Amino acid sequence: MGFKARARKSKSKEENRKKDDESSKPENEVPCAIKSCNNFADKHLGGRSLGRNKVLEVWNKSDFEEVKGRVRMCKKCYRILKKETKDSKEWV
Ligand SMILES: [Zn+2]
Repeated sequence: MGFKARARKSKSKEENRKKDDESSKPENEVPCAIKSCNNFADKHLGGRSLGRNKVLEVWNKSDFEEVKGRVRMCKKCYRILKKETKDSKEWV
């Protein structure tokens, strides 16, 4: 069986559509607010932003840092929090 070698069309692959719209691309740069934790709380890593009142149910005020009443925590800490407060369904 002989396949004819097709003449390659010099199709320019310059369709590098860069979406610069998403300049807020998440990277590992949000440290977990829990002071004893060294993980990152970035959303793509499963991090969460929770109200300080919720965090206060598990940690002391001196154990974490808050920004405008919000506490960024990593996936690991979030799981701890979730476990400790599993009876409440409200996640504000
Ligand atoms: Zn953490």
